[in-house]
Amino acid sequence: MFDSHVNSETMVALGIDYADIREGVAAICAKYPGEYWRDLEDRHDYPDAFVNEMTAAGYLAALIPEEFGGSGLPLRAGCAILEEIHAAGCDAYACHAQMYMMGMLVRHGSDAQKNAYLPGIADGSIRFQAFGVTEPTSGSDTLNLRTRAVRDGDDYVINGQKIWTSRAHKSDLMTLLVRTTPQDQCAKRTDGLSVILVDMREAVGNGLSMRLIDTMVNHHANEVFFDNLRVPAKNLIGEEGQGFRYILTGMNAERILVTSESLGDCRYFLNRASAYARERVIFGKPIGQNQGVQFPLARAYAEWKGADAVARGAAALFEAGEACAEEANIAKLLASEAAWNAAEAAMQTFGGFAVAREYDIERKWKDARLARIAPISTNLILAYVGQHVLGMPKSY
Ligand SMILES: Cc1cc2nc3c(=O)[nH]c(=O)nc-3n(C[C@H](O)[C@H](O)[C@H](O)COP(=O)(O)OP(=O)(O)OC[C@H]3O[C@@H](n4cnc5c(N)ncnc54)[C@H](O)[C@@H]3O)c2cc1C
Repeated sequence: MFDSHVNSETMVALGIDYADIREGVAAICAKYPGEYWRDLEDRHDYPDAFVNEMTAAGYLAALIPEEFGGSGLPLRAGCAILEEIHAAGCDAYACHAQMYMMGMLVRHGSDAQKNAYLPGIADGSIRFQAFGVTEPTSGSDTLNLRTRAVRDGDDYVINGQKIWTSRAHKSDLMTLLVRTTPQDQCAKRTDGLSVILVDMREAVGNGLSMRLIDTMVNHHANEVFFDNLRVPAKNLIGEEGQGFRYILTGMNAERILVTSESLGDCRYFLNRASAYARERVIFGKPIGQNQGVQFPLARAYAEWKGADAVARGAAALFEAGEACAEEANIAKLLASEAAWNAAEAAMQTFGGFAVAREYDIERKWKDARLARIAPISTNLILAYVGQHVLGMPKSY
């Protein structure tokens, strides 16, 4: 019922946008039901077929400028695509990174880099899915990362370690944040970090090695080790030492895009759970007639609506080139909390069947939990709002 908006003019007028794209994405997702994702989970495998079909249909290149073979659509179109994937019970984590990393390449990359990589990313011949920022000893404290790149002739020589680098083993390119100038030689704390594009096809076995981390979700996260890896200096994005600023500009896009995945998760849980609550008869009446079942779902729906409104505002500000960090962060916070509350309500509504894997509720419930931790944890968003919006002292 609540997903019937796709063809509805009324709902388009209310702000359900990109109806054609949503329909096209939903049609592909219908070919990848729960069995497909559960089978991958059993084998810790990657959804190659799904990602290839999304790429072939052009959806993963939606944000790449037309001159480089993409559709040149605004960020909001990317949001619609990711939201529909999650609303259908599928998983966009496997392929969402190129949508936000590509923006950094477009904004800060050289013409040579754009020409070398963007057309291949658009046609699917180059997978641009790995984003190496987090390290085991610095975690959320990005400015204290230790992976070091030292200039040696025409190369950088890289040593260090990343952790949680999703999809590194399935990506041809990695965006890597490294320290190029020691902290004690930098004028500002935010100086001295640089972004380097690593061609994984050349790096693996030549100074780069990886180990998949066994996790509760099938997200293909890796530990990545750099041992005297040589990368051509021409792979530096923008100016040396300015990398943290480039990463920050990309992070607003990332926050807004992952927000749309949580919004899709909300729709998935609420559709599934409200349908089940209407049909499941216990004590002679549908369980959804009980307010103890009905109200948590109704509350999660209200939270979804609020988060959706903030997310649309954040995307509009981003597209207008306006400051949007407050809106992007708050959208991510509200959507991930709404998705978690919807997941919990769905878990409770399905009762024992919630933990039977064939119902897919537990699989999506685990995903919804992760969204409160990665790519940024709830506390760090609250710290941002406390300090930068409300002007309270910095806690770290
Ligand atoms: C499945 C998965 C995939 C990921 N994919 C990627 C990826 O592709 N690339 C990448 O670079 N990273 C990735 N990450 C890393 C993710 O961004 C980090 O896990 C996240 O930023 C938190 O870092 P941490 O795990 O080291 O936690 P920590 O920084 O150790 O923090 C632990 C807890 O303490 C809290 N905390 C820390 N400092 C403060 C403070 N000052 N005030 C209040 N609370 C605080 C945090 O909020 C958190 O809840 C992924 C993580 C997971 C789990």
